Amino acid sequence: MRVLGSLHPLFGRTPICHNLDRRKSNMHHEALNYMEVGVVRETLPGERRVALVPAVVPALVKTGLEVVVEAGAGAAAGFPDELFRSRGAKIASSRAEALAAGALLQVRALGCNPEAGRADLVALRPGQVVIGMCEPLWNPQAAAELAKTGVTLFALELIPRITRAQSMDVLSSMATLAGYRSVLLAATTLGKMFPMLTTAAGTVTPAKVFIVGAGVAGLQAIATARRLGAVVSAYDVRPAAKEQVQSLGAKFVEMPLDTAAAEGKGGYAQAMDEEFYGRQRELMTRVVAEHDVVITTAAIPGQKAPVLITREMVDHMPPGSVIVDIAERGGNCELTRPGETLQQGNVTILGPTNLPADVPLHASQMFAKNITTLLAHLVRDGKFPLDMTDEITRETLVARDGQVVHPRVRAALGL
Ligand code: NAD
Repeated sequence: MRVLGSLHPLFGRTPICHNLDRRKSNMHHEALNYMEVGVVRETLPGERRVALVPAVVPALVKTGLEVVVEAGAGAAAGFPDELFRSRGAKIASSRAEALAAGALLQVRALGCNPEAGRADLVALRPGQVVIGMCEPLWNPQAAAELAKTGVTLFALELIPRITRAQSMDVLSSMATLAGYRSVLLAATTLGKMFPMLTTAAGTVTPAKVFIVGAGVAGLQAIATARRLGAVVSAYDVRPAAKEQVQSLGAKFVEMPLDTAAAEGKGGYAQAMDEEFYGRQRELMTRVVAEHDVVITTAAIPGQKAPVLITREMVDHMPPGSVIVDIAERGGNCELTRPGETLQQGNVTILGPTNLPADVPLHASQMFAKNITTLLAHLVRDGKFPLDMTDEITRETLVARDGQVVHPRVRAALGL
């Protein structure tokens, strides 16, 4: 227990009490009186993460919450029941018991677990709080289904990208892991090594890696590929990305495109028109053809990812090249099949869909930090006052009292 505890220095501190203390007492609120926090085993096939790790349990218990964990929930991430128990969690004898908690914490609520997630709907009840990832803008129907059960639903994807919410930002945590893993996948698939080596058997030239999209995942991919010794280039439509790419020792690929309007609210990219993407593809054709590895991460929040790599571009890549397409929602390469690895001529195209689950221990550790920071923000004295004047609460609250209440999710549903 001591050894694992030392692996999680992040959770040695307890931000919860601090946050609770500084709450204003005069806000308008509706109190929901629930004291139990439930954690269930994730049911999406291949999902190895767990929403809480043992190290965060003591801080939750200290604030008066009882933590109930389904038996085996943390096993695939490297957190056995005994460790949860030793930190003060109760191990539930059945899934139903953990699902009955007043506040249910999940990595993947229904929208992110469209088939297996449906089985839990019957166990949910009015007023229960559900916090997890649920893709409410991409899969608003699932949010509507959850709303029908009467739960109070918070979507982690909607955490606003503001400074005080940074430690709740699950998208950034998971993108960091995805960027790291994408490079490892490319390195083990490519028939070349990444570093340059001068040996008695001759000189090995370094692999050339091109990263499309230099957001959180892309920047981590650049750093990882550089650590492995590759020569790295990158491109992003947001002008601010250039300096970040260069600061990691990669080359920023210049393209004569009008990107003045490419950055929108919260530092995200804005969707551009098809004429822009057509021109971008044209300009990228030569760059793609010069690289052994292309890792694509370009995304627009809540929308289908732009197609930036065409079949023709793939056909011009060197034999043995690898594309790892981690852009969510369709991918950036027109040939990508999400969840599959395919061969197009001599090029291998990988479309992994859940890279953070391949690093389940650290992914769960980061996720747990994010979700407990949000929980600490939302809970006061073991209750959930819904302070709608608070930006974080307002932006993440998707459903309550049987209704989808988030304006953007309502718009996505045509309401
Ligand atoms: P994302 O996953 O939505 O997109 C990934 C990247 O793809 C982005 O950098 C985007 O600009 C890029 N992209 C979109 N269309 C493209 C195209 N046609 N060609 C090339 N690249 C394209 O974004 P993300 O990684 O989650 O975040 C993007 C930025 O948001 C970060 O770099 C950062 O500046 C900002 N951010 C702010 C906070 C905060 O303030 N708390 C937290 C995280 C991120």
